[in-house]
Amino acid sequence: MTTKQLLPPITRGVVALRDVATTKEQIAANGVGKRASPQDTPIFICELNACNRLFPSRDRLALHRKRDHNTDDVFTDVLTWNSESNPQDQMRE
Ligand SMILES: [Zn+2]
Repeated sequence: MTTKQLLPPITRGVVALRDVATTKEQIAANGVGKRASPQDTPIFICELNACNRLFPSRDRLALHRKRDHNTDDVFTDVLTWNSESNPQDQMRE
């Protein structure tokens, strides 16, 4: 059995130093970072056969499914907080 190596055998650690120059006012003025919401960060995870690849849209997921899983199904085994639900689920409601 082979195991996939997730990290290179040698990693070079760097000591993180505290930022003593930046003020709270500078951070507030420059707007560093922003809170993301599910609406502006769409994500679709293909859970078919433990694939677990991420896609920014259902269309991209569909291309992947067609190419790598040979299926047109883009609703089964999909983890997402975005967009429309499965039309078949809506019919059941
Ligand atoms: Zn997949």
